[in-house]
Amino acid sequence: MIGQKEELRTTPLEELEARIARAKRKLASRVLILGHHYQRDEIIRFADYTGDSFKLARDAAAEKEKPYIVFCGVHFMAESADILTSDEQAVILPDLGAGCSMADMADIDQVLDCWEEIAGRNGKRTIPVCYMNSSAAIKAFCGDHGGIVCTSSNAHSVFRWAFERGERILFVPDEHLGRNTAHTLGIGDEELVVWDPAKPLGGCEEAALDRARVLLWKGFCSVHMHFLPEHVDRMRERFPGIRVIVHPECTAKVVAKADAMGSTEQILRAVRESAPGTCWAVGTEFHLVGRLAAELAPRGVEVMTLSPFACQCATMYRIHPRSLCYVLESLVEGCVVNRIVVPAEIARSARVALDRMLEHKG
Ligand code: SF4
Repeated sequence: MIGQKEELRTTPLEELEARIARAKRKLASRVLILGHHYQRDEIIRFADYTGDSFKLARDAAAEKEKPYIVFCGVHFMAESADILTSDEQAVILPDLGAGCSMADMADIDQVLDCWEEIAGRNGKRTIPVCYMNSSAAIKAFCGDHGGIVCTSSNAHSVFRWAFERGERILFVPDEHLGRNTAHTLGIGDEELVVWDPAKPLGGCEEAALDRARVLLWKGFCSVHMHFLPEHVDRMRERFPGIRVIVHPECTAKVVAKADAMGSTEQILRAVRESAPGTCWAVGTEFHLVGRLAAELAPRGVEVMTLSPFACQCATMYRIHPRSLCYVLESLVEGCVVNRIVVPAEIARSARVALDRMLEHKG
């Protein structure tokens, strides 16, 4: 835990929940609590809105009257919310240690080095596209270089937008979302290269680089990498007729075996709209899957996780009722703690790329 009161370490959960509820009541309309789908139940129950990073970015941008936005998610999400809200609004991350291991796989200096090598290579225009799961500095780079941000909800539409403006995409930092999205546009593996920032020329052959339509950053989500093709096989053996839906941060081999691929919002929609008697195996973070299973069981829709192991996002899990209690009670006392502030110059450029993203439907 980073940035919390010592006393809260030993406070029982029930008491924490009562204190959170009290503080939220006192703050009334001055506070908005956003809860990402991967948060634990004890946090989600206090969220005014839940969603994936795309939906929550929109929710934050729309709530212009709230002075305090408490973002129960990870660092890059709070940064994006700060960029999309006014200077008078404070965006607060309950635990400053809640980062994202995938976002940490690309830093701006590495991206600049890569850009120097590939920007106008063999006369082709390159459009930088970054996943929402990236730092504000990388989003700003995209804004300054004719690029855009995407989420897993709108990556397909964003890639089409980029190809209307250039012949090649540099996609940072998730190799798998980039590959799966390229496949939906009919771009095969022979037109994709993986850029490894630790190697000279990204570890790519010159000819492959010249041929590539999409350069994929060598990054991944440790949660979604747990899902394997054999998990799909095992589920189909055990539950004939089961439907398998997975997140696009899973590998292309897993996606190829699934019935459908979608962002968390798209997964929720598809599963909720299914007929009673349908059985689903879902390849994404297990808090979302667990809540969906409990919600749909009374309707006769069975939902289970694709993996035999609990695939949990450890950094999302850092947001504990203790940290939520700490930031809310501090606000009641008139003290803004754990505020996320993106420097104005970076925010201006990142906003350009984020605004372009918001024009694309999820
Ligand atoms: S699930 Fe993966 S991509 Fe999402 S916040 Fe966690 S580590 Fe990052």
